[in-house]
Amino acid sequence: MKPYLIALACSVLISESSIAQRAVLSAATRGFLAVDTPLVALTHVTVIDGTGAPARDDQTIILRDGRIESVGPSGRIAVPSSAQVLDLKGHTVIPGFVALHEHTYLGGINHPAPMMHSALLYLASGVTTAMTAGSMLPYSELNIKRMVDAGSLPGPRMHIAGPYLTGPRPEPGPFRIITSADDATRVVNHWADEGATWFKILSGPAAVVRAVVSAAHARGLKVTAHLCAVTFTDGAQMGVDALQHGFITNSEYVPGKQPDVCPRENQRAQADVDPTTPAVRESIRRIVAGGAAVVSTLGTYEAFSLTRARIDTAELAMLTPLLRREVEETHATLARSAFIVPDRLLTRMMQWERLFVAAGGLLGAGSDPWGTGFMPGDGNQRNYELLIEAGFTSPTAVQIMTSNGARILGEHARTGSIEPGKAADLVVLRGSLAANPGVIRNVRIVFRDGYGYDPAKLRNEVRGKLGAH
Ligand SMILES: [Zn+2]
Repeated sequence: MKPYLIALACSVLISESSIAQRAVLSAATRGFLAVDTPLVALTHVTVIDGTGAPARDDQTIILRDGRIESVGPSGRIAVPSSAQVLDLKGHTVIPGFVALHEHTYLGGINHPAPMMHSALLYLASGVTTAMTAGSMLPYSELNIKRMVDAGSLPGPRMHIAGPYLTGPRPEPGPFRIITSADDATRVVNHWADEGATWFKILSGPAAVVRAVVSAAHARGLKVTAHLCAVTFTDGAQMGVDALQHGFITNSEYVPGKQPDVCPRENQRAQADVDPTTPAVRESIRRIVAGGAAVVSTLGTYEAFSLTRARIDTAELAMLTPLLRREVEETHATLARSAFIVPDRLLTRMMQWERLFVAAGGLLGAGSDPWGTGFMPGDGNQRNYELLIEAGFTSPTAVQIMTSNGARILGEHARTGSIEPGKAADLVVLRGSLAANPGVIRNVRIVFRDGYGYDPAKLRNEVRGKLGAH
């Protein structure tokens, strides 16, 4: 059978499966498209397909009705005569990012500002699927998701987490304090009925982790956690599906860690822990054996490094004037922050993630934009560069940010790699990504469900508005 016939057979099979049809876009959303035809051929591209396979040069990808119909060497893939052909010699095509620690509010500043426009920024940077990791404004997020699903707002496909869930705390705050297993079930069921598909735990204690995991899993939903009072090993054993942040938040490395107590000044103690020691390797083995994935968020911690934190005026220009002043103030006073991340700690975080992957762990990535000038979309691109700095190869870093994320979300049948039958979620980059990690920022077109969005149009729309309703 010729390759295109095999691809056709695959696409027929997949179209009969449960994959949903793509949304019909509103006229306003269509205004952001650069490519708006149901049959498209991307020819002569370098493909990094998200599976971890090496880059392949001179490939052709056929997109039809929102799906990838076929991909292969340009000489062997038949281009249908009615296709819109984009000759993309000199470009790299990767799957759209599947990002696992996203927010549609900007926190860590004076007030949680809603960011409807973050959906556009994420998409413009190549994020085609996003999970929010804890909501301060859950109804705002659910409404953004509904608008995106309806085609009336450009954005990634979204998984929305319910509000932050935690144990008893002395201070009031934008989180739900869980008091019992029955309470956890009530809260989880409420937010599951409202549309949440993930739950986010902050810190612990163990009773809260167990209760939330049990209630969420009973609904077929998943749990992610920024742990502290509970260690990663224990969290994995309790069934947490995705542990956020990696080495820096694994309190089992803090000397004298007491059960159900979050040790103070984690980051200083962590900076003195060598991840290559047998004890740390053994903890990684136990986390992997427990089946928990880990979400890398190197960029958001780099934003707390006195030597490395950067502020990008092109990104700040996206914010409303009020938010921009707040972010600039946060950045200017970083040296007085209680949360400085020493550079050697960032290095240890990178080492730990390499060891986790080498031990067979499933590593995804997310940005965690947090009011430091580290922005939605831009932050995801920065994570790619930091994964390369950590020593991952280009195909592995792409895999972490795409198909691994899709596996963690349970979306791998639909997206996360460039394979026939999957959604046409693709990022077209100018240049050779394998040769230069900075090419991750040269986004020319972002396809989501086969609609080709123009990143410049999306960013122009956002400018000056991020942080307003
Ligand atoms: Zn976060």
